[in-house]
Amino acid sequence: SPVPDYLDEVRRSCADDGDEGEVASYIPELADADPERFGVAICTIDGTLYGAGDDEHRFTIQSISKPFAYALALADRGLETVLEHVGVEPSGDAFNEISLERNGRPRNAMINIGAITTHTLVGEADASPAERVERIRSGLSAFAGRELEIDEQVYESERSTSSRNMALAYLVHAQGKLEGEPHDAVDGYTKQCSLLVDVRDLAVMAMTLAAGGRNPVTREQIVPAWVCRQVLSVMATCGMYDAAGDWMSHVGIPAKSGVAGGVLGALPGQVGIGAFSPRLDEYGNSVRGVRVCERLSRDMGLHLMQAP
Ligand code: GLU
Repeated sequence: SPVPDYLDEVRRSCADDGDEGEVASYIPELADADPERFGVAICTIDGTLYGAGDDEHRFTIQSISKPFAYALALADRGLETVLEHVGVEPSGDAFNEISLERNGRPRNAMINIGAITTHTLVGEADASPAERVERIRSGLSAFAGRELEIDEQVYESERSTSSRNMALAYLVHAQGKLEGEPHDAVDGYTKQCSLLVDVRDLAVMAMTLAAGGRNPVTREQIVPAWVCRQVLSVMATCGMYDAAGDWMSHVGIPAKSGVAGGVLGALPGQVGIGAFSPRLDEYGNSVRGVRVCERLSRDMGLHLMQAP
């Protein structure tokens, strides 16, 4: 197959394109990441997986966990309950912004304030904080087709610096939109963000979303198809932080990025993309991860709004 050579070439040209961007440092443990790491993987609808570069290097999933926790909340509690707590409108604000609608509901599940709220909607309504975290760990593992684990060091590191997320959780709590205790919500959400993945995992997770909830490798149905439609819609409009509009018009693939440097792209019915490189642009998106997606979109005509 010519695909591995092609991916290698894409990876190399995106690495040669300069080394701008900064590794995230507000979570102390992330500042130690090797800025030169760079991996890319794609998964096709029949479950064929291709990888290049550091495709088995593991990093914390961070915000890329948000669409999957949202998917589990929708599957577990239904659309109506989830919509009572979290909206579906782009905020245009930074990921950690205090972004609430007038009725006190967080704007969407892709920014921290909405993701912390969404975390508490996963599992049974009366689940304990530990059961909720386990539901998320095992649910995301099912999307990946492999048992995922929490990086305890990154978790501890973020927990010791989570005042801002704590403030967001208390704010939602004060508005009556958060189930349970703010402290438990942030603690569980921080564990969720500390799950370790590689780009191959991300590609399979993305393809599962893009295939209506059926993991193309394990062939297990993880969540119903309507859930994936909802999640991909919110990813398309809110997935790339405050650069979401620019991303959608330019690259045209529903996507989500995380501050550790991961990027996930999911093109309905077609392909799942995973990319990783720690240096981030001003919006918090991986510079090389964005470049790779731009290249793949252009070369393969992946833009969702492009008529065939
Ligand atoms: N755990 C990070 C936070 O809540 C995730 C942020 C991100 O990846 O954008 O600050």
